Amino acid sequence: MNANLEPGLYIVATPIGNLSDLSPRAAATLAGADVIAVEDSRVTGKLLNHIGVKRPMTPYHDHNADAVRPRLIERMASEAVALVSDAGTPLISDPGFKLVRDARAAGRNIVTIPGPSAVVAGLTLAGLPTDRFLFMGFLPAKQGQKEATISEVGAVRATLVFYESGPRLGATLATLARLLGPREAAVARELTKTFEECVTGSLPDLAARYADAPPKGEIVLMVGPPGEPEPASDAEGEAALIEALTRLPPAKAAGEVARALGLDRKALYARAMALKTEG
Ligand code: SAM
Repeated sequence: MNANLEPGLYIVATPIGNLSDLSPRAAATLAGADVIAVEDSRVTGKLLNHIGVKRPMTPYHDHNADAVRPRLIERMASEAVALVSDAGTPLISDPGFKLVRDARAAGRNIVTIPGPSAVVAGLTLAGLPTDRFLFMGFLPAKQGQKEATISEVGAVRATLVFYESGPRLGATLATLARLLGPREAAVARELTKTFEECVTGSLPDLAARYADAPPKGEIVLMVGPPGEPEPASDAEGEAALIEALTRLPPAKAAGEVARALGLDRKALYARAMALKTEG
């Protein structure tokens, strides 16, 4: 057991490009861990080298996670086990959630050392609403499943965030433009690296820009929320009110139609009373 860290699981966020983004707390945790569970020991080895730290590493990735998880949970009882991914925050489109779930079930001490994540870094550059966002990770590769996933979330009133690769970007933007229309969007690329950029525009404009020019590097693609729905017309309000009056008293009918169609409740109530008198 390491003298400085309590036994348990330490979730350590690492840089998404710029090694200076490793926090002092993350560096101290990696330096003090008894073992570091890594996706790729060459990638994490470079990071450890950068901070002058040598610690034992053990592989933890999609292909061996089920087999090695029980032993890691066991080790956390008496040792400090750090979890990192190749870049950014573990568990975010990266392995780790089952490790945390099982560590929690086993009553282990679990500590997070937060830091960079491409989803949040992308949102800070895009200039799209951030009060609500829906992180979608990677879209399915198969076109049918991709379209079904986009349609499922198209009406959600939130900025949508996707992870994407350069070669797939043009086709994904074309599908998004076809299914979601001319919504505002942003392509954030190579975040925290030398060629960081964020290109904004409508989905059709971005689809045209990248159609035959796949960009290099890692990408976060963001799509702004749908606009406010068109308010219902007077005729639609009248028809809905007449229908509601067949089931409800005037005050309730006016309330229901006002909520459903975004119309003025007082005006609907006055009209409902007039309809009753006329009828
Ligand atoms: N766990 C990571 C995080 O917290 O962001 C994400 C891991 S996921 C396997 C890798 C994807 O994240 C990339 O394909 C890309 O879409 C996005 N990404 C990672 N680093 C990035 C960067 N520097 N710039 C833009 N996107 C990045």
